[in-house]
Amino acid sequence: NALQLHPATAWLNAAPTPTQRPHNSHKGSFGDVLVIGGAPGMTGAAILAASTALHHGAGRTLLHLLDTAPPNICSTLPDVMQTSTSSTHAHLAHATIVCGCGGGTAITPWLAEALTLTPQLVLDADALNTLAHQPALRASLQTRRARGQHTILTPHPLEAARLLGCTTAEVQAQRLLAAQALADQLQSTIILKGSGSIIASPGHTPHINPTGNARLAIGGTGDVLAGLVAARWRPGTDNHSVACQAVWEHGALADQWPSQQALTASALAQAQLTPFQ
Ligand code: AMP
Ligand code: MG
Repeated sequence: NALQLHPATAWLNAAPTPTQRPHNSHKGSFGDVLVIGGAPGMTGAAILAASTALHHGAGRTLLHLLDTAPPNICSTLPDVMQTSTSSTHAHLAHATIVCGCGGGTAITPWLAEALTLTPQLVLDADALNTLAHQPALRASLQTRRARGQHTILTPHPLEAARLLGCTTAEVQAQRLLAAQALADQLQSTIILKGSGSIIASPGHTPHINPTGNARLAIGGTGDVLAGLVAARWRPGTDNHSVACQAVWEHGALADQWPSQQALTASALAQAQLTPFQ
């Protein structure tokens, strides 16, 4: 039964364990994350995803801003490498790519290339809206899986509705079914966001995430999640468990947030989990 839920103990396994880096590791050991997004007026979305990857263990974090006159982020995020068109091309075939955060329509050519070349691809926001309108790109998700390339999509209910061709109310009325239908149709891991985010993958029992709260219901927290998924996605690790862990941690960060402090997406991007006892 595809809609059977995992027992609650599954969530103990989903909780992140403190990562110990082997002494002889180097930045190449932890993978590159490249964020492509940030069209005019929306550069903050891509910067938030990159900041999250930087603060959550990516070996190197790169950022390609689609704004025609991109801000220089060096003074605010000197650890992030800002790429040009040619260096972005050079990274598509090996980095974990986050595609879409604040991307606008300028994301389309990059999405098409990443779908062909990128082994580990996180698709959010305008990458999802582009997929919804372009059946040929949507179909290419299935061939990716056959080629051993992996994709994690992070739709909120409206983005999921666009992909499924139904209404947001229909998605929300049957969240498990909607997430699993998308996972099966697109042969990808789906994170259907919202209160009780659902993680669904082809051939997996879907999960409902128990962490998180309404303080996350503000702009930018979805971009943080996209960056966190990419940072946690080590080559060769199972998409479904990576998605479960990242969603769990994103929610747990909000649950641990001090009640007297404002939760903002830029602060969330930098926050670290206090280990549970
Ligand atoms: P987005 O809609 O792309 O901005 O993403 C919002 C993020 O905040 C997602 O990770 C949601 O799951 C999370 N979120 C929003 N509202 C809630 C809520 N009421 N409870 C738990 N998580 C939420
Ligand atoms: Mg979003």
